[in-house]
Amino acid sequence: MNKILVNTPEKNKKLIDSFGRTIDYLRISVTDRCNFRCTYCMPENMKFLPKDDLLTFEEMDNLCSLFIARGINKIRLSGGEPLARKGLIDFISNLSRFISYGDLKEITLTTNGSLLNKMSKQLYDSGIRRINVSLDTLMKDKFYQITRRDDLENVIHGIMTAKDNGLKIKINTVVIKNKNFNEINEIIEWAHKNDFDISLIETMPMGLTDQDRIDQYVSLIDVEKEIRKKYLLQETNYKTAGPSSYKTTNKSNNLIGFITPLSNNFCANCNRIRLTSTGKLFMCLGQNDNIDFRSILRSGNITELNSSIDKAMKIKPKAHEFNISKRNQRPAVDRHMSVTGG
Ligand code: SAM
Ligand code: SF4
Repeated sequence: MNKILVNTPEKNKKLIDSFGRTIDYLRISVTDRCNFRCTYCMPENMKFLPKDDLLTFEEMDNLCSLFIARGINKIRLSGGEPLARKGLIDFISNLSRFISYGDLKEITLTTNGSLLNKMSKQLYDSGIRRINVSLDTLMKDKFYQITRRDDLENVIHGIMTAKDNGLKIKINTVVIKNKNFNEINEIIEWAHKNDFDISLIETMPMGLTDQDRIDQYVSLIDVEKEIRKKYLLQETNYKTAGPSSYKTTNKSNNLIGFITPLSNNFCANCNRIRLTSTGKLFMCLGQNDNIDFRSILRSGNITELNSSIDKAMKIKPKAHEFNISKRNQRPAVDRHMSVTGG
């Protein structure tokens, strides 16, 4: 199937949406399941997608071939916890052929770090070179309060093992009101001391959790003021394929990224689409527009697959409408971040 997909007449027809944005970045949630229950991400009694609906890795590989043939040159695997899905390493090793062909620049991964002790060497060997690891605190009790799991030591050890195995690491930290807001400078110091860049993230109103978003949300404008008490910050032109705007400090060569979906919307530069583990393609993290590729893929109709990608470009929304301004507010979308992959 891969050959057929790659050799269609659409091969060189790039992905450009109706706002003129070139789409070259695909994020895949390989599973929405997770061994943690971060309070801003999902409730303790999370209802996961039915297992029977999942795409197989072979089907994901076929879809990736199609998207790569249409101009996707970077893929990030996320979840849920991507390392928790069996068969992931073989999937990545196989997908890495597109790096050797020169079609993909890289395959990266976002993880909670809990399985890095076991899997970081395999990740490196499969072709991954950079990972994002989510870590919101360095304090054991707070780690438990945030993730609802007592796993800080294992995560830190996993991060260090990944570094020893040659993986470049960026730390992702969601800033949470009354939780880690006052610890941000310590987390930055720790990350930079270990030669990791760090991105700070605003809580997004996706799906219901057991907590009100207004009790979690902090604007990164306020966080930056806190950081400036300790560091001199300077703007940089550094850009990755992601939404972070990066600053340097006077104390390290490492970067601090600011991901500000609420306080400073970055949708004008959006370059991505997102595939769920059941084959739905979402064009925006914060909107519901989607196309279900699973049944089209299973029908094997290549023309329809390609025209569905073209349709996806037409319906990609201009922007999300995230807003956290009052108590008991409905989330912008009902699905949780784990469904579309952060
Ligand atoms: N389980 C992996 C992890 O935690 O890194 C990958 C999936 S997780 C959904 C990806 C990223 O999304 C993490 O950095 C996480 O902190 C972030 N995230 C989850 N829910 C979020 C929310 N509601 N608002 C902002 N970031 C969120
Ligand atoms: Fe799991 Fe990641 Fe969500 Fe935490 S943020 S519950 S680790 S998917």
